[in-house]
Amino acid sequence: MKTQLLGQMRIDRVVESEGPFAAVDFLLPQVRPEQLEPHHDWLRPRFLDERDQLVMGFHSFVLRTPRHNILIDTCVGNDKERPQRASWHRQQHRYIESLARLGLAPEQIDYVCCTHLHADHVGWNTCLREGQWQPTFPKARYVFSKREYSHWEAEHRLALAQGRDAPNHGSFADSVLPVVDAGQALMVDDDGHDFEAGVRLESAAGHTPGSCVLHARSGGAHAVFTGDIFHTPVQLIDLSWSSRFCHDATKAAQVRRELAAQLTDTSSLLMAAHFPSPVAGRIVSGAQGLRWQCDPH
Ligand SMILES: [Zn+2]
Repeated sequence: MKTQLLGQMRIDRVVESEGPFAAVDFLLPQVRPEQLEPHHDWLRPRFLDERDQLVMGFHSFVLRTPRHNILIDTCVGNDKERPQRASWHRQQHRYIESLARLGLAPEQIDYVCCTHLHADHVGWNTCLREGQWQPTFPKARYVFSKREYSHWEAEHRLALAQGRDAPNHGSFADSVLPVVDAGQALMVDDDGHDFEAGVRLESAAGHTPGSCVLHARSGGAHAVFTGDIFHTPVQLIDLSWSSRFCHDATKAAQVRRELAAQLTDTSSLLMAAHFPSPVAGRIVSGAQGLRWQCDPH
């Protein structure tokens, strides 16, 4: 993704990984391949490969305003024990080097904003130092939805008490709690949170109980960081297609519809956590319904 300029702000992408992820029905069990055929002209090969695998990215966004450097969602992370998902297990990616190529050292991140607390959105919150999980960004405040945090804290405690596997592959314990223990968490209410003028976190519950989206506005331009409200542009074909990872499929679909109604055929950029290169784009309407229009660079 090339740098996106948004008035006085700029947006860059820090890539952890990208490529064919899984068959469409792994993520969207209700979808049959023939339903996608009328849309192959815009889906293939960028979003759907020849074997009907969804092409997805795992990345963070860096939003630089004149006042703050804000890192949005933090992927899977390095060294995390994720034996139930082989591709995430003890990853070794050069993510910090990618951040450095954007001119940013970890101590220059002012805020980390997790749209929700699934394992692929919190990983780089912490890194392993001397056998301990420690906050990767020593000067950052980590912004979590209070509702989201409470939900996963309860699930975590229940799993411990019942001797079950921890929720979210154990990411609450290794990627969220250490940040709270270090005193770097900033828990925000459902009524939203203003990082500064023009940067606002809003509740968008459905994918998870406390999912949020981050709006950035500057000089008349607008971008919205949507986490997993959309996993793939395929969901534009039918906005009711929630993923198998959605906590409340009906609510998730409602949020998707509201967002699409707000953004379609406008200049607003939608920045999704898993859309593949070139990532940044807009929702447009046409004879076949909605589709994704991305900047080809
Ligand atoms: Zn995700």
